[in-house]
Amino acid sequence: MLPVDLSRACIDKIDLPHISDKNVEIFMLRLDKIHPVISGNKWFKLKYHLENFKQNNFIGILTFGGAYSNHIVATAYTANLEGIKCKGIIRGEKPPVLSHTLKECLDYGMQLEFVPREIYRQKNLLIASGQHFPGYYTIPEGGAGPLGEKGCREILDLVNKQPYSHIACAVGTGTMFIGLANSSFPKQHTIGISVLKGMKNLPDQFNDLVYPAAKKKYCKLFSDYHVGGYAKHTPELLAFMNDFYLQTGIPTDFVYTGKLVFAIKDLVKKGYFPQGSRVLIIHSGGLQGNLSVPKGTLIF
Ligand SMILES: *Cc1c(COP(=O)(O)O)cnc(C)c1O
Repeated sequence: MLPVDLSRACIDKIDLPHISDKNVEIFMLRLDKIHPVISGNKWFKLKYHLENFKQNNFIGILTFGGAYSNHIVATAYTANLEGIKCKGIIRGEKPPVLSHTLKECLDYGMQLEFVPREIYRQKNLLIASGQHFPGYYTIPEGGAGPLGEKGCREILDLVNKQPYSHIACAVGTGTMFIGLANSSFPKQHTIGISVLKGMKNLPDQFNDLVYPAAKKKYCKLFSDYHVGGYAKHTPELLAFMNDFYLQTGIPTDFVYTGKLVFAIKDLVKKGYFPQGSRVLIIHSGGLQGNLSVPKGTLIF
C-alpha cells in the first residue's frame, strides 16, 4: 500500500479577479492533499529511491537538507513508516532551538547531524562517495536528480492533461519541472517559477540527457519571482496568500506555491498567456513550512 492517497489529488478551477477578463483559465492540481507530511512532489521524488533502496542491501537512508526542508521531513516520515534507519545531514550549526521541521524528524526517528554551512557542500560530496556512512543509501538534497525526475513524470498521470496549454510549477532544484516537461505533450508549455535568487537557468547537472531538447522552446523559466531569495517572504506575499485563501479556500506555502501563484497571476495580468490559454498550476505541497512564520500572520 502506498503511504500517500493519490486519489485525493483533485483539480480545482481557480477564479480570481482580473483573470477571466484576460480569457485565460487557471486550474490547480492539488498535490498538497495526497498526504499531510509526504505532501506534494516529495512523494514522487522519493518513490524510485525507495524502490532502489529495497532492491539492494543497504542498512539505512541518508539525505541532506536545511532546517525547514520539506524533503527532509518527508524522507524521515517515509523511512519511519517503512522501518528504515534514516540519517539527515542538516545544513548549518545546531541551533539552540530546533525548527518544528527538525523536531518532527526526530519524532520520526531520523538521526540528525549538523554541518556548518561552509563545509556542507564538501561534506555532501564526501558522504556521497560513501566514505562516512558505509552501507547507507544516499538520496541527494531535495530528492534531486534522475530518479526524482523519473518519479515526477508520474505527476501528470494523475490527470487528463489534454485540456491544458500550459503546466506551471515552482522550481527549487528543477527536478519536478523537468519531469513535467518530459511527461507533457510535445507542444504543451512548461512554465517554471524559480524560488531561488539568480537562477536564470536550470543547474548544470541537468544536461540534455534528462532535459528534453525537443521541448526546449516550450519550456520557460522565470527568475524574477523569488521575492528576495529562497524561503524569503514579504508582507505583500503573505497578504497575497491570505487573499488567495479567502478567494479559493486553498492554502499555499510561502516558499514555493505562494510565489508560484503570485507569479502566474502577475503573468496573466501582464498578458503573457495568449487568449484561450488553460493553465494547470501544480500545488506541490509543503504547507508544513508555514509553521516558521509568526503565528497569526497567515489566516489558514
Ligand atoms: C521541493 C519542493 C519544490 C521544488 O521541487 P524541485 O523538484 O526541487 O524543483 C516545490 N514545491 C514544494 C512544496 C517543494 O517542497
